[in-house]
Amino acid sequence: MPTSLLLQGAQGRMGRAIAGLAEEEECRIGHACDAGDDPGAGIGDCEVAVDFSSHEATPVLAGLCAEAGLPLVIGTTGHLEREVAAIREAAARIPMVWAGNYSIGITLLLHLTREAARALPPAYQAEIVEMHHRHKKDAPSGTAENLLDALLGAREQDRGDAVFGRHGLTGERPEREVGVHALRGGEVVGEHTVLFAGPGERVTLGHSAQDRAIFARGALRAARWVIGREPGIYGMGDVLGIG
Ligand code: NAD
Repeated sequence: MPTSLLLQGAQGRMGRAIAGLAEEEECRIGHACDAGDDPGAGIGDCEVAVDFSSHEATPVLAGLCAEAGLPLVIGTTGHLEREVAAIREAAARIPMVWAGNYSIGITLLLHLTREAARALPPAYQAEIVEMHHRHKKDAPSGTAENLLDALLGAREQDRGDAVFGRHGLTGERPEREVGVHALRGGEVVGEHTVLFAGPGERVTLGHSAQDRAIFARGALRAARWVIGREPGIYGMGDVLGIG
């Protein structure tokens, strides 16, 4: 039996990609909703919810899922602090997969970034650069944020060391600083680069997404995986077994 999904953001780029690949990935859309619809209307017919909509819509859906005991896969990015807090509250009651990027390649890039950040001395200064299509509404990308947190965590640093873009008389770059830069334009699906610029050499790790299908397939895989897990927040590394 295909897994029945509640799909929020069904009319968007990602929503359409997910609906198009659902059957191939042994899923079906039990209830599709978009802006103006009631996500709770068809919740009883679904085994798991998948959200690729807008930041303000995720906590509402998370609350409904927590009440109904429905696991949730969150693809939406750009949440405000209070929205993150509300989603975390719901995760005490249901299992969630919450990832800024559902591709296998980015899951591996996160792992390699952690390894590189640990292996390279602090003189190898890190910068993150991302590029996306001109329609993207948040910056930097959720993936760049995830890469930043992976990097800072591996070097036992925190967000206080991050700088989002540079402008004006910035002064010399402190060694601990991590710069994050967002480029926008055209129809670029998603490019991410992590640079470690050291004395006399530079290490570059990168990923280029060419098709939204990679995110859609990953999210569908996460949807099947999350059913029956303990409450809490899981990442795509858990789904794929990449630590
Ligand atoms: P999009 O703008 O094409 O689609 C978003 C859809 O959500 C639209 O149909 C819109 O009408 C709908 N929507 C807006 N407000 C809503 C609400 N309150 N309730 C229900 N639906 C609502 O965007 P997209 O490119 O499909 O991306 C959607 C989200 O997914 C973005 O946050 C994007 O950054 C994120 N994204 C994540 C990944 C990942 O792998 N995690 C990959 C691609 C995109």
